[in-house]
Amino acid sequence: MYLKFPSVPMIMTPGPTYVSEEVRDALSQKITNPDLDLNFYEYYKKTCEKVQQLLNTENEVLILSGEGILGLEAACASLVEPGDKVLCIENGIFGKGFGDFLKMYGGEVEYFTSGYRKAIDVKALEDFLEKNHDFKLATFVHCETPSGITNPIKQINSSLKKYGILSIVDAVSSIGGEEIETDKWDIDILLGGSQKCLSAPPGITFLSISQKAWKIILDRKTPITGFYVNLANWKSWYEDKWFPYTPPISDIFGFSVAVERLLKDNDRLERHKKIANAVRKSLISGGLELYPKDGFSNTVTTVVLPKGTSFKVIYNKMLSEHNIMIGGAFDFLKNQVFRIGHMGENCYEDKLYLTLKGLDNVLRDLGFELKVKLHKYFIENLDS
Ligand SMILES: *Cc1c(COP(=O)(O)O)cnc(C)c1O
Repeated sequence: MYLKFPSVPMIMTPGPTYVSEEVRDALSQKITNPDLDLNFYEYYKKTCEKVQQLLNTENEVLILSGEGILGLEAACASLVEPGDKVLCIENGIFGKGFGDFLKMYGGEVEYFTSGYRKAIDVKALEDFLEKNHDFKLATFVHCETPSGITNPIKQINSSLKKYGILSIVDAVSSIGGEEIETDKWDIDILLGGSQKCLSAPPGITFLSISQKAWKIILDRKTPITGFYVNLANWKSWYEDKWFPYTPPISDIFGFSVAVERLLKDNDRLERHKKIANAVRKSLISGGLELYPKDGFSNTVTTVVLPKGTSFKVIYNKMLSEHNIMIGGAFDFLKNQVFRIGHMGENCYEDKLYLTLKGLDNVLRDLGFELKVKLHKYFIENLDS
C-alpha cells in the first residue's frame, strides 16, 4: 500500500473526529427560525427518531445544545435530589467525574471501582451489590475514552437491575462504534455526544430517557436546580411546539446527516472491531505497551508513552512532519499515554495505515527500536 501523508492536518484524536463533506454541506444550509417554523419541529422529531434507531430504543430521545458533558450534567441534575443515595461505578477519569456531578446536585455518593487498567469487574460489582444496593441510581461509562477501555455495559446494567437501581450511562465515545441495545439491556438514560463516532462537530449531546426515569424526573419532591440542565422542561416540547431555548439549528442539520450516515453504514461495528484489533496487534508487536490490560476499546487505543519521550515531542513531530494529530490525555494520565482515535469517519484502513506509518517514523527517529513496521503489520493483521 502506498499512500501519501495528508497535506492538511488529519485529526486522529478520540474526538473531535473528521467531519465528512456531506455533514459540512448540511451545516451550511439556509436556516429558518426554529422556534416559529413548525417544519423545524418535525425535523427535530425525525432526527430524534433516527437517534432512537441508532440506540435501538423506543425511549424518548432529546437532542440538546451543548457538548457531551451537558448530557451527563443534565441527567444528574434532573434525577438526583439532595440526600439521595447514589452509586458511581468507575474505572477512570470520566467515570469518576460522574461522581462530582452527582455530588453537585446533592447526591450522597458511594464509589465502586475494581482497578483502573481493566474493564469493570462484574463479579466484584455483584459481590458489592449483594451487600450494598440501597441506591436510587448508578452512573457508569461505557467507553472510558482516556484509558481506552470499554466496560461490559450489558452485564453491569443487568447487575443493577436485580436491585431495581436506575442506570445513567455515558456512551459518548462508544455510540456508533460498539454494540448498544438500549431497550434489550434496559438502560434508563443513555447519553452521547456529536463529536466522537458520530463525526459531527462538537456542540450537541443527546439522551434517551426511559419511562421510569421520566417518572422520577417529573415526580420529584424538590425542584430541579438549573434551567439548561432541567430535562423536565423538555417533556412536552412537541405537543406545545415550544423549545426551552432556541435550538442550534445548523448543528442539528449537520448532526442529522451524520446520524443518517451511520445508520446506512451496515458494517460499521465489524469495521471498528477489525481495525481496533489490527491497531492493537501492530502496536504490541512493535514493542509498545497498551494502557489497558483488558476491555480494549474498539474506538480508541491508549498507549503507554515509551520511556524517555514525552507526549509533546511525539505529538509535535507527528503533526509537523506528517500532518497527523494524535491525542494525549489529562488528569492522572497526563503525559503518561498517547491515544489514537479510530472512531466514526476515522475508522478506515487508509487513515490508520498513515497514522501508524507516521508513528513508526517518529518513534524510530526518537531512538525507539520498533520490532516490526507498525503500518505493515497493521495491514497484515486486518483479517486476523
Ligand atoms: C468526550 C467525552 C465526553 C465529553 O467530554 P469533553 O472532554 O468535553 O469532550 C464525555 N464522556 C466521555 C466518555 C467522552 O469520551
